Amino acid sequence: MISFYPGPSRVYKQIPAYVKDAYEEGILSINHRSKEFIELCSATQNILRKRLNIPADYMIFFTSSATECWEIIAQSFPETYTYHFYNGSFGEKWLRYTQKLKQNVVGYQFNYENLLDFTGFDLSGEEGIICLTQNETSNGTQLPIEDIKLLRSTYPDHLIAVDATSSLGGLNLPIDQADIWFASVQKCFGLPAGMGIMICSAKTMKKVLSINEKSYYNSMVFMREMMKDYQTTYTPNVLSIYLLLRTQENCKSIKKVDAKLEKRAAKWYKFLEEKTDLKPLIKNKKIRSKTVIAVKHEKSKIAEIKDKAKAEGIIVGNGYGQWKNETFRIANFPAIKKKEIKLLKNLLKNDIK
Ligand SMILES: *Cc1c(COP(=O)(O)O)cnc(C)c1O
Repeated sequence: MISFYPGPSRVYKQIPAYVKDAYEEGILSINHRSKEFIELCSATQNILRKRLNIPADYMIFFTSSATECWEIIAQSFPETYTYHFYNGSFGEKWLRYTQKLKQNVVGYQFNYENLLDFTGFDLSGEEGIICLTQNETSNGTQLPIEDIKLLRSTYPDHLIAVDATSSLGGLNLPIDQADIWFASVQKCFGLPAGMGIMICSAKTMKKVLSINEKSYYNSMVFMREMMKDYQTTYTPNVLSIYLLLRTQENCKSIKKVDAKLEKRAAKWYKFLEEKTDLKPLIKNKKIRSKTVIAVKHEKSKIAEIKDKAKAEGIIVGNGYGQWKNETFRIANFPAIKKKEIKLLKNLLKNDIK
């Protein structure tokens, strides 16, 4: 089966070999307090730092998922205002989870065909955390990098938290322009599901220490205390950390990966518009995602295409949330191969026109 699902998604083809290596090297059974683990953890952080341009004063944490990162942020900042800008299901879920856990949570929904216009909001008088979804996996929209930069310069004292679950590892994101970034590994990192990555600025950690919230195993105060020594607050997914190290060692520079994805995405959108009677869900070219392409047609046609693809050994992603039945989604993640894209394009082309 060839998977275009935007998570869990196609894993790198070297994964079985790396798992075998992990078994043979004894990685699968190492103790998470051992010197071997500390070396693995620090090597993995070093490679991430280098590959993703993570500044030296940012801390990197391993969590169990992106969803857990939503919870960690909510619980570690119990009184702090959080401002959630969202246009789709994942951004909204983050808001709803946070609302269940704490007070002072404000949601701003914006139309998914529009750029995020935050000029109408005055957040300047207060501190708080601005919560953004860089790539909204449910509808295939993306927050342009310039907007994150603009938010950074407009609100220098706020913390900016970015859910980059379906873009970190694929796009060249400006890590220094926000305070908290997080993702899980089953999307652009091309790994099996089961781990999250959270990256936090020095400003974030300073605030965490001043609040000093310590009620949970994953309170950021504890996470920091442990990760200073490349340790975790619980027994971590050592295999996933190892696979992250091995796959990232082999990746091209993030600039090159980003350029490749951008080119592929442009080709996908052009293909859909010119060679099929399918349409990209998103009309506004400025916000079309480079990593998740949402494709629209009538409900019956969408179901038919999904079935046909499946019969050919190709899985496309189901629609999500309000777009469940009238769209399907195509992951444009780094691990996907050119020849696989060609197969899917052939199928869509033959069937539709
Ligand atoms: C997939 C996804 C999540 C959830 O990831 P989990 O690993 O299931 O926690 C959160 N946010 C976005 C934008 C996603 O694409």
